[in-house]
Amino acid sequence: MRPFTYARAADARGAVAAAQEAETKFLGGGTNLLDLMKTGVERPAHLIDVTRLPLAAIEEREGGVRIGATARNSDVADHPLIRQRYPLLSQALVAGASPQLRNMATVGGNLMQRTRCPYFYDPTLGACNKRQPGSGCSALDGENRMHAILGGSDRCIATHPSDMAVALAALEAVVQVTGPGGDRSIPIADFHRLPGDTPHLDTNLGPAELITAVDLPPAPFGGRAHYLKVRDRRSYAFALVSVAAMVDVDPGRRVRDARIALGGVAHRPWRVPDAERALIGRAAGDEAFRAAAARILDGAIPRRDNAFKIELARRGVVRALTTAAALA
Ligand code: SF4
Repeated sequence: MRPFTYARAADARGAVAAAQEAETKFLGGGTNLLDLMKTGVERPAHLIDVTRLPLAAIEEREGGVRIGATARNSDVADHPLIRQRYPLLSQALVAGASPQLRNMATVGGNLMQRTRCPYFYDPTLGACNKRQPGSGCSALDGENRMHAILGGSDRCIATHPSDMAVALAALEAVVQVTGPGGDRSIPIADFHRLPGDTPHLDTNLGPAELITAVDLPPAPFGGRAHYLKVRDRRSYAFALVSVAAMVDVDPGRRVRDARIALGGVAHRPWRVPDAERALIGRAAGDEAFRAAAARILDGAIPRRDNAFKIELARRGVVRALTTAAALA
């Protein structure tokens, strides 16, 4: 491992100032970054520990809830405000990791975690444009069972591993950041990037920008939500496909509104707003949900090992919507 300096920030302003030094990374719970440093994939010269910043509160704000960036995933999942108003987020966090990892991982760190593509993680396996830009993508013609079917490029077909981010996409959360240029808000839909020609960039954060909070807007769907995660084993596994579904149904069982976000299928949580709008006014049932699923998966590109994900995702959308609608 490359030698690095370690410093603990006292406040967000100090953390941002310290991070303007080249090759600096913020350290949250360390559940991903430290693994990557041990294998030499991440090689920061400086670590700024942000876990003691006063940014761990979970509190009501403007009809919604603000979650501090250093709140632990376990604290968010168990918080009464989250469990009652945003059960989708609680379900996604519980599905996302073991209790030990949830106790360490922070909300900011969860958003910043990197793909678990094996070629990215293990430099001995082959070339990886995300790890070393311009080197190639071994997954395109290699082991790609876990990889993207939507939004990929000829440079990278990695998936984003976070369950929490999928729920946040459906909830239309807003990420608050601070940096050398001041504070700004980034809608979750604009936070993570598609790979395009720059797969080494996972997010639209600028240099030395620090996540300070995640804002959840007032929850229009109440508890009518379901997070479905399909994986190879019941715990401690990343999603083959996940679906965050929220449905509002009128007394006649027609869809008033819906949100659907997919995980495990793209470089960022995947939403198709047209598919959600097309559900409005239709009878809440199999026919409409199948049509929405088909629209969401339109244009999906199967690779050597992951064609099964297309049908799995279609069925996952129908099942998650059906479960959420039954709660209405
Ligand atoms: Fe690297 Fe992306 Fe290709 Fe995986 S899919 S090898 S992360 S470039």
